[in-house]
Amino acid sequence: MQQEKIFENTEIAFALKSRKELSKAHFLFRMMGNATLVKIGAFLAKKSLQLGLPVKGLIKNTLYSQFCGGETEQDCIPVIKRLYKTGVSSIMDFSVEGKTNETDFDAAMDKKLALINFALINKESSIIAMKPTALGRFALWQKKTEKKPLTETEQEEWERIVKRFDTICKATYEAKLWVLIDAEETWMQDAADDLVELMMKRYNKERLTVYNTLQCYRWDRVDYLKTLHERAKSDGFKLGLKIVRGAYMEKERARAVEMGYPSPICENKAATDRTFNDALSYILDHNEDISAFVGTHNETSSYLAMQLMAEKNLTPRNNSVWFGQLYGMSDHISFNLAKKGYNTAKLIPFGPVKEVVPYLIRRAKENTSVMGQTGRELSLLSKEMKRRKNS
Ligand SMILES: Cc1cc2nc3c(=O)[nH]c(=O)nc-3n(C[C@H](O)[C@H](O)[C@H](O)COP(=O)(O)OP(=O)(O)OC[C@H]3O[C@@H](n4cnc5c(N)ncnc54)[C@H](O)[C@@H]3O)c2cc1C
Repeated sequence: MQQEKIFENTEIAFALKSRKELSKAHFLFRMMGNATLVKIGAFLAKKSLQLGLPVKGLIKNTLYSQFCGGETEQDCIPVIKRLYKTGVSSIMDFSVEGKTNETDFDAAMDKKLALINFALINKESSIIAMKPTALGRFALWQKKTEKKPLTETEQEEWERIVKRFDTICKATYEAKLWVLIDAEETWMQDAADDLVELMMKRYNKERLTVYNTLQCYRWDRVDYLKTLHERAKSDGFKLGLKIVRGAYMEKERARAVEMGYPSPICENKAATDRTFNDALSYILDHNEDISAFVGTHNETSSYLAMQLMAEKNLTPRNNSVWFGQLYGMSDHISFNLAKKGYNTAKLIPFGPVKEVVPYLIRRAKENTSVMGQTGRELSLLSKEMKRRKNS
């Protein structure tokens, strides 16, 4: 079956952007395509904020407005309402990173609970996202993953992490929402997988609440998916999986080389793509048991998901498949999918300008390093600018 190519429609993709916004996005992606500029810009942004120089306005009007919804939940309301009018839901993500103490972890939990309440009031934002290491110390996740014995104090600390996880999952369950739990580095991920599975056993019995994430750049993930599916069937819980390729490739490979163990990452991009496709096919083959949140900016993967849905007679609106992209990226995928009726969501990072700078720098660097991504965004923006000029 030939899948209809819908992502070329730039009129739908950029319907929410004014002429000025289109030119600004074009300018930004052009800048991000320049690796030297990104490197210097990242350094200057960090330094200027540390020194208290007045650069907040500049950052806010450029990268921040492209990739973030606002400083607070309330600031994001106009953005999420605009998206929702075109059929795109929002996943609000408080993008403050690098917190390391118990007060911060409790604050992160409280923020998630506030977001659950926000989602109850604002139907435009009905999915919650959370990152395991926002709720507890990375080193402790790692120690659990390595199955090293914990000291008494560490055991208490771990129990606080479990409690925070449980509090968020329970509140999500009671609110009848979904929470998508991010996957991170392999050397802490087993502990996260185990804890997410425990949450699924608690809160995914009668309906789906908790989604784990499969990083398909890991060659072991399809086997993991199959065994997890078996356990879900035997223990009677529903499985929700966000499938992504994975964000920590360089770090993973470097650590494996440095420490002399086999890399957990697929040998090349084609192998990652194969794992992604295999995982997607397996999930859709078992769509009565497993729901998918397809988190990708890859057009081929998105077309594959659409094609598999059609082959399984799943309508675009079938709740067992959702698509997701980051705010500010791949609008041609999000808005064209939504226009055709597919369940689509944008992940909307938000937070004070100063605090989200590390996130913005990662986005800028990713757009420099992801092969072809910037070029694709630029050519689509140019196409739309030209179309509007001629129409
Ligand atoms: C909604 C959403 C949620 C996300 N959540 C998470 C998360 O919880 N955890 C997480 O880790 N990431 C997450 N990501 C990021 C994601 O993992 C990818 O880094 C990003 O989306 C780029 O992959 P792609 O499928 O969009 O595009 P593509 O451009 O097709 O793929 C790029 C990806 O392919 C892989 N790759 C590139 N080169 C090679 C190579 N030489 N060998 C092997 N593999 C290679 C890498 O994973 C790289 O990021 C999320 C992304 C989205 C959109």
